[in-house]
Amino acid sequence: QVKEMNDVEFPNSFLVLGKQKALGLQARSQEEMEAWIQACQEAISQNEQKTESFKAAASIPVQEIQQLTYEKAELGKRAPQWIRDKMVSMCMRCKEQFNPFTRRRHHCRACGYVVCWKCSDYKAKLEYDENRLNRVCRDCYSVLQGQLENEEKEDRKKGILEKDSAEVSGRSLMCSFLQLLDKSGKSGTRGWFVIPRDEPLVLYMYAAPQDVKAQTSIPLLGYQVNELPQNDSRHMFQLVQSKLVYTFVAESEEQKKRWVEIINWVANGENALLGEESDEFDD
Ligand SMILES: [Zn+2]
Ligand SMILES: [Zn+2]
Repeated sequence: QVKEMNDVEFPNSFLVLGKQKALGLQARSQEEMEAWIQACQEAISQNEQKTESFKAAASIPVQEIQQLTYEKAELGKRAPQWIRDKMVSMCMRCKEQFNPFTRRRHHCRACGYVVCWKCSDYKAKLEYDENRLNRVCRDCYSVLQGQLENEEKEDRKKGILEKDSAEVSGRSLMCSFLQLLDKSGKSGTRGWFVIPRDEPLVLYMYAAPQDVKAQTSIPLLGYQVNELPQNDSRHMFQLVQSKLVYTFVAESEEQKKRWVEIINWVANGENALLGEESDEFDD
């Protein structure tokens, strides 16, 4: 943080405040001080942006994902937080994959979801924007128009992979980015992996942390999990069941150990602590 001191004893002075240190500086003139303050502020915001995108690339805390879910009753009353483009690989409404040519990303101005043009080809008046017409997704459109047709749709039976990653990750035993190596072990696919708390025997793989449908799932029962010795600074572990082997690369040694610990725990059926009290001693 940087701010003017406004102290008559020290004219043209300003403060640079850090987490651990504060620095008071005095300039020769008002203009010089203002130039310094501006330069500092620019440097700070540049640095923040850098840290921000670095964080997004490295790992995304679950809390951040959850905050983005919206309240239906608040729809259109205030500007939504836009879900970042890179948090999803598919339209959050129709679940079709995005691509730069025929299916590009758009934002619904009511819920902030990332959706395709087809699913956002609607306009509705939004209170927060002085009731001007804005691009909205089809779900928000029907809610805002007071149509309830999509409630029926939600009732239809969902496929096993049609689980909202943000929702599942928010109450998960473990979730993070991992790389799943292919058979050659040389390349692999980076994905967002989740073990849901209420379904601890399944490992879901999403292309991106806020996708509304998983790419695949691996049932964990019967798998053995092995830590691999640290190899050219890669943090690897394997899921093994007779001839089937999945090799994963974690982002850190600590993250690897947590995955191994949790999978070990659930795959061996020791999930008594997950919900109800265990009554195994109660004959
Ligand atoms: Zn769509
Ligand atoms: Zn919407």
